[in-house]
Amino acid sequence: MNTGIQINLEHPVFERIATICKEEKVASYVIGGFVRDLLLNRSCKDIDIVVIGDGIKVANLLAARLGNAVNVSVFKNFGTAMIRLEDYEIEFVGARKESYRNDSRKPDVISGTLDDDQKRRDFTINALAISLNADDYGMLLDPFNGLSDLKNGIIRTPLEPEITYSDDPLRMMRAIRFATQLNFTIEATSLEAIKSQCARISIISMERVSDELNKIILSLKPSIGFKLLFDTGLLHLIFPQFTLLYGVETIDGKSHKDNFYHTLEVLDNICSTTNNLWLRWAAILHDIAKPATKRFEVEHGWTFHGHEEKGARMVPTIFRHLKLPLNEKMKYVQKLVLLHLRPIVLAKNEVTDSAVRRLLFEAGDEIEDLMKLCHADVTTKNEFKQRKYRSNFELVQQKLIEVEEKDRVRNWQPPISGEFIMQVFDLKPGREVGILKNAIREAILDGEIPNEYTEACKLLIDKAAKMGLNPVIIIP
Ligand code: ATP
Ligand code: MG
Repeated sequence: MNTGIQINLEHPVFERIATICKEEKVASYVIGGFVRDLLLNRSCKDIDIVVIGDGIKVANLLAARLGNAVNVSVFKNFGTAMIRLEDYEIEFVGARKESYRNDSRKPDVISGTLDDDQKRRDFTINALAISLNADDYGMLLDPFNGLSDLKNGIIRTPLEPEITYSDDPLRMMRAIRFATQLNFTIEATSLEAIKSQCARISIISMERVSDELNKIILSLKPSIGFKLLFDTGLLHLIFPQFTLLYGVETIDGKSHKDNFYHTLEVLDNICSTTNNLWLRWAAILHDIAKPATKRFEVEHGWTFHGHEEKGARMVPTIFRHLKLPLNEKMKYVQKLVLLHLRPIVLAKNEVTDSAVRRLLFEAGDEIEDLMKLCHADVTTKNEFKQRKYRSNFELVQQKLIEVEEKDRVRNWQPPISGEFIMQVFDLKPGREVGILKNAIREAILDGEIPNEYTEACKLLIDKAAKMGLNPVIIIP
């Protein structure tokens, strides 16, 4: 248990906690994620302190000494208290012993010893503690060889894995999340236990599951986590649509690519260019409708016509199921899924001004992210093709800049509004206004007329005359 290893706790707050606990005659320890991350040299802003006694009392005493700038949030039901100090969150909790019932991840809790508290931790690397007590201040306490697992990159549960995962199935998600974030291996019996217990995930709320999923997605290489989720069977339970991308079909000797692995490659690719969770989600979902739109045509082989539109329509269902936000974040993902082929199609053909103008108009502020997604979508191993795509993209990118400078169509509003049209021809809102507005927008996007008021008015009068409409006022 006692490793003989002395850890240097730099922040002065640890000394202050130690002093208070000494006066109160209670033992206390830094425990869990903070200790793990300290040993891994990762920055960590939440500090967990376990007190063998009343954690809330220690928190209150500390806050009083730190002065009035600091306040304590007490969560009586959980027996915890939290103090914000600088950019740290310090959480105090009394040491506890837990026992679980079958239908809930909420255990019965009684107070316990440090040993009990370490036993209830999910992984050996998360059970490490550092003493804050006078006789061994700074000593690393490691009951389950967490230090050696940390060195060897292993995720292992302190107690029997099947029981650990069955008691609190969220731990299965956490195991895979840590394996992904830290690039660690889940120890073999643990991995087997996750496979055998995966159905237990159903007792966990989807919000918590998605929280972990998002942490996986925000890692450096999320494919590690998705492959583990798939291999353990968890992915089939939490996000079945994604598993349908798996596999290759062959007809007449023609195969399509495995869209599961392709998508994961796109996801890993995009992670090197963005930390934006929602752009990463767009990568995850860009081909989500491929299984539903897949056809084999004798002349063309495998096709996935309309998968971008159907995919965009699937986004709300998936977001609702995963309890992800149904707001502008979702709309952003939908937009990128819908448009993800456009720059590629463009790059394959001649890059005309009007096609670029249209793309800019439709993508608006999302154009840079869309281009990132398209770059990431090139996963061909054929170097010749790769080079061709990349140089075509550069051409598109160049054109985008030129057209944007010239025409400013990003977030563009046509020079003539619907209200204006209604005034000029004394119309009520309706089909005719729509037709006229559309005609002007299309003519500008196609480059038939310049993007200005006078030209737009001329076109408006012309087009209206053909519909039998005449102005009732003199156009200003
Ligand atoms: P991160 O802060 O990066 O999410 P963490 O390990 O600090 O990782 P927290 O949720 O902050 O995770 O939890 C702090 C500590 O509490 C963990 O290190 C672990 O010891 C313990 N813990 C958290 N969740 C569980 C759980 N579901 N089962 C057992 N122990 C847990
Ligand atoms: Mg933490």
